[in-house]
Amino acid sequence: KIAHFPHARDLDGFDFNAQPSVDPHQIRELATARWVAHGEAILLLGPPGVGKSHLAIALGREVIRQNYTVLFTTAQALVAALVKAHGEGRLEDRLALLSKPKLLIIDELGYLPFDPNAAHLFFQLVSRRYERGAMLITSNRSVGEWGTVFGDPVVATAILVRLLHHSHVITIRGDSYRLREKRRSGLLQ
Ligand code: ADP
Repeated sequence: KIAHFPHARDLDGFDFNAQPSVDPHQIRELATARWVAHGEAILLLGPPGVGKSHLAIALGREVIRQNYTVLFTTAQALVAALVKAHGEGRLEDRLALLSKPKLLIIDELGYLPFDPNAAHLFFQLVSRRYERGAMLITSNRSVGEWGTVFGDPVVATAILVRLLHHSHVITIRGDSYRLREKRRSGLLQ
């Protein structure tokens, strides 16, 4: 049901032993989709390559399995769509469309900073979904850095207040999984 995952990933394919900062019990609990039924948020934070997108896709698939609608997008594509709709006088339609799926997954927030207009459009989306639809956001930036990501600490705080109200924050630490695998197999020093 909708989705648009960039590739297939599942929880069985996630090596929890390689990532001790992720609690498998917490992930299994989140896989029940109870948080989606309650319209809560998940923030998956951590450096590149530690498995944030993998877990986001895997959880998204579990949520679909529980018969909820899920839309997966990157922060960059989402903001581009909002800016375009705004420019064409169709922002309301776009916000309504993005508010329909029970879960909205936004991957890779923070790789590119938002301009002030984009930050404000993102805020409108979060406000619209707040306490109605669940959100899962992955970011390489800690919440303390979101002021820089959104280019405006006031807008960033307004967004965070809503996202953190009913939320599960999972911070993944450590090195990129792929780099570590290469090192282990002797391909890298
Ligand atoms: P991030 O979103 O944190 O940048 P990804 O989820 O894109 O990282 O992970 C990069 C690659 O490494 C993906 O192919 C992913 O499936 C794989 N990967 C990362 N962590 C794990 C893990 N613990 N077990 C299995 N594969 C992993």
